[in-house]
Amino acid sequence: MKNSLLSVNSFRGLLHLFFPKICIACDDEVPMRNNVYCLECQQELYYTDHLVNSDNEFERMFYGRLKLEQGAAMFYYRKKTAIQKIIHRFNYSGAKEIGKILGNEFAHLMIENDWGGDVDVVIPVPMHWRKERKRGYNQATILAFGIAEVLKVKCLPEALVKAEANESQTKKSRAERVENVKTAFTINVNHKLDKLHVLLVDDVLTTGATLEACANVLPQNCKISMATLAIGRL
Ligand SMILES: [Zn+2]
Repeated sequence: MKNSLLSVNSFRGLLHLFFPKICIACDDEVPMRNNVYCLECQQELYYTDHLVNSDNEFERMFYGRLKLEQGAAMFYYRKKTAIQKIIHRFNYSGAKEIGKILGNEFAHLMIENDWGGDVDVVIPVPMHWRKERKRGYNQATILAFGIAEVLKVKCLPEALVKAEANESQTKKSRAERVENVKTAFTINVNHKLDKLHVLLVDDVLTTGATLEACANVLPQNCKISMATLAIGRL
């Protein structure tokens, strides 16, 4: 028995030697082949309870603003921890494959927790085309495809259109942000979304203004759920 265990382990070790996996946050080696974070980063990641608790701060943020079926972020945003490194790499360092890995992980957690089971279509929050061309990709789109792949539903990255390039949001108050993004999105009439359950996806939830503006241009008979990679102030 001991021998066979040893041989399995050494086979794994051999595989690891030839196909080492590296942590998506820090590039350290990942000990187990089925994980994407090293142990240190894993310990720094704060998963939310949103998928199991419907009275959560994500859904509460939209109370009185719009009717949400379900809302969930995967992680709490914490400065100087692994999530900051992950988001920085994903958003600013061109590491777009990270988004697919995270989207896949999030969707597996959704399924495990019986969340979003009747979602028909996944739609990312769009980026203005000029910004997307400059960056090379829209991170919400990459995440949305990662989620849709595992949920086995369609992802429609062109269903919503960002109509104007608005000024940087970072120094604005919540009221100013809401005003600024309220009219920033339109719907692409080529997509028929009537009566569908739409899962809107974005990278980080801060004030909710952007997701709210997107939800407001969807047909009124749509059911709306929302998912973001993280929740909190950047
Ligand atoms: Zn790491």
